Amino acid sequence: MSKVIYLSDDRHPSSSQDRAPVAPPQPGEPLLDTRRRPLHDLRISVTDRCNFRCTYCMPREVFGTDYEFMPHADLLTFEEITRVARVAVSLGVEKIRLTGGEPLLRKNIERLVEMLSGLSTPAGRPVDLTLTTNGTLLAKKAAALKAAGLRRVTVSLDALDDTLFERMSDSQVTVQTVLDGIDEAARVGLAPVKVNMVVRKGLNDGQIVPMAERFRNSGHILRFIEYMDVGSTNGWNLAEVLTGAQILQRIGERFPVEPVHADYRGEVAARWRYLDGAGEIGVITSVSQPFCGDCTRARLSPEGKLFLCLFANQGHDLRALVRGRSSDEQLAARMASIWTGRDDHYSEMRGKNTASLHKIEMSYIGG
Ligand code: SAM
Ligand code: SF4
Ligand code: SF4
Repeated sequence: MSKVIYLSDDRHPSSSQDRAPVAPPQPGEPLLDTRRRPLHDLRISVTDRCNFRCTYCMPREVFGTDYEFMPHADLLTFEEITRVARVAVSLGVEKIRLTGGEPLLRKNIERLVEMLSGLSTPAGRPVDLTLTTNGTLLAKKAAALKAAGLRRVTVSLDALDDTLFERMSDSQVTVQTVLDGIDEAARVGLAPVKVNMVVRKGLNDGQIVPMAERFRNSGHILRFIEYMDVGSTNGWNLAEVLTGAQILQRIGERFPVEPVHADYRGEVAARWRYLDGAGEIGVITSVSQPFCGDCTRARLSPEGKLFLCLFANQGHDLRALVRGRSSDEQLAARMASIWTGRDDHYSEMRGKNTASLHKIEMSYIGG
């Protein structure tokens, strides 16, 4: 298949392109969208490529050998990414997550980490810089990432059983490779490590309890993610979703848990802790209990489009501004205008006239 083209909003009648630029907020004042959600997080996808072909994200039938990934010249450079991030931080972003595709495949990613880790908020706090990875290259790169200023990592791992893991990731990588990456990340201080497990009913739900058992008392935080209808290629089906409540029930039958309160507005995972003190787990329930009301995240695609909702079908091109002669003030006014015009809340609308939307792929925008 040739590459999926994502539209930018340039001629979209209701887009915020038509809105007047908005003055950035005064220091200490949050930038609010139409639903009064503040801009707090920026997720930066640095590549649309990956060395896995997880069936729920990049099915090989679509992302095969003839799939056209983005040419390198289209990607934002590290300097361009850092400029957009710096402007986003001036608008209220306090937390940045690098993602992809597989972010550790981007050459010299530690250099980007170093550049971003130098950013600080208007109040003078360093940004909270994290990264999500499939873990295959983590054992090799964790020390350099830590030295470059990365704070923490999230590692995706859907099963402890090798055969099932290979089937889900459609790769030859062993579970031990990912576990080694997790251990090394914790050893160098990228902790606590969060471990993401996407649960697909009938496929890996038998791994919920073994995964819980494996990561209890480890200091790592295991998070169960409901299988989502992101993108248009994974053939998502509601029947394959095991809800957060069902996941918690299975864990609770074996290891009793109680809720923990969220640290900040916009935290995606509902947090729980084991009653016996063996640690914490998280459950991300975007299908069964949407959290759009607290969605404080913007997303930057590899070639510089700003997306807001994970389920959007079009982004707002910032690369033209970044590569043109626009000043940081003009870039800030454009980004502020995009955020303040935001109204999306897909997960609350799921199923209501949303079936025909051509949504962006998770491997392109990064979650
Ligand atoms: N390649 C990296 C990784 O897998 O960690 C980063 C990018 S990946 C797109 C980010 C996260 O999205 C991963 O934790 C992955 O499991 C999750 N994800 C991908 N497709 C998903 C889906 N259909 N439903 C729920 N989570 C999904
Ligand atoms: Fe790659 Fe991550 Fe998608 Fe799996 S979930 S195919 S590792 S981008
Ligand atoms: Fe945010 Fe969109 Fe997810 Fe709702 S569906 S939580 S608006 S990304």
